[in-house]
Amino acid sequence: MYDILIIGSGPAGLSAAVYAARAQRKAVVIEKEYMGTGQIAVTDRVDNYLGLPGENGYDLGEKFRSHAVALGAEFLDGEVTAISKTPEGNFTAAVSGKTVEGRTVIYAAGTVNRRLGVEGDGLSGVSYCAVCDGMFYKGKTVAVVGGGDTALGDALYLSKLADKVYLIHRREGFRANKTIVGQVKNAPNIELVLNAKVSRVLGEGKVAGVEVDQQGSIRTIDVDGVFTAIGSLPNTAAVSALEGLALDGGYIVADETGRTSVEGFYAAGDVRTKHLRQVITAAADGASCAVSADEYLSLSE
Ligand SMILES: Cc1cc2nc3c(=O)[nH]c(=O)nc-3n(C[C@H](O)[C@H](O)[C@H](O)COP(=O)(O)OP(=O)(O)OC[C@H]3O[C@@H](n4cnc5c(N)ncnc54)[C@H](O)[C@@H]3O)c2cc1C
Repeated sequence: MYDILIIGSGPAGLSAAVYAARAQRKAVVIEKEYMGTGQIAVTDRVDNYLGLPGENGYDLGEKFRSHAVALGAEFLDGEVTAISKTPEGNFTAAVSGKTVEGRTVIYAAGTVNRRLGVEGDGLSGVSYCAVCDGMFYKGKTVAVVGGGDTALGDALYLSKLADKVYLIHRREGFRANKTIVGQVKNAPNIELVLNAKVSRVLGEGKVAGVEVDQQGSIRTIDVDGVFTAIGSLPNTAAVSALEGLALDGGYIVADETGRTSVEGFYAAGDVRTKHLRQVITAAADGASCAVSADEYLSLSE
């Protein structure tokens, strides 16, 4: 029986592991991706994490993981498919065919990318990760769909590899920060396609173009790849049967301490209700949850 089951080894889960180790709690970090460090691993450059400007996302994730490892954190590879509460008030997690038990849970499973939801969005050449797949489009033409920081960051990154980047956004204005908007507007090989929705991804087996509905007029743009950055959905399938757990828009409702509507169950990082989904806030949540779990455990000792 563990004191704390930490689900996910992104910034939130790894920060929770560091704080749990320092509180001398018996904790295990359960992660479905081999050596995973969460979404940040596929980010080319993180410019806003305090004290480490311009850090590569993969390297930042490795630093987080090494820190947890150095403090003796235990890891278990596997996907958590269901979490339930026992009559005694403990938790069981079904992990790739076995059951792991803990007195508390810190749920830090993050989010998944939202799909376009149109015909052809499963074709080869539709990607959610510019950093992972960008190199396949050297000298080619690509489309990026979205209007936030991720979409604009992807467009800029791809503009250094591809000959031409179409940035397709359903509104006139962007939700991204002003610096990056300026950089995108000044990039000579990025063409903005605004007030436009992708209505189909075209191609036989692999992407050959996109059909775009621009305020009622249909336009076809020939592209070799489509990079989708239109937001994300919380990874909450594993807690769907956890009785009494309050969600808001699919995100787990938690207070500043990480406490949820289920006693002993804490939520950290992108998977919970919050104002800002970033590495720094995920790490802060992980720390708060571990301290909260430690305090909760102390009450019954
Ligand atoms: C392209 C991109 C660029 C970004 N750039 C920045 C940036 O520059 N600066 C910044 O601060 N933030 C950035 N972010 C946001 C940042 O990555 C997230 O806010 C942060 O990673 C959230 O951390 P997390 O630990 O909550 O979740 P995640 O990083 O999503 O980690 C969740 C982990 O849980 C695992 N998991 C999920 N379900 C299960 C399960 N059922 N069982 C076991 N394991 C599971 C996943 O495999 C994953 O490793 C970016 C995100 C993206 C996608």
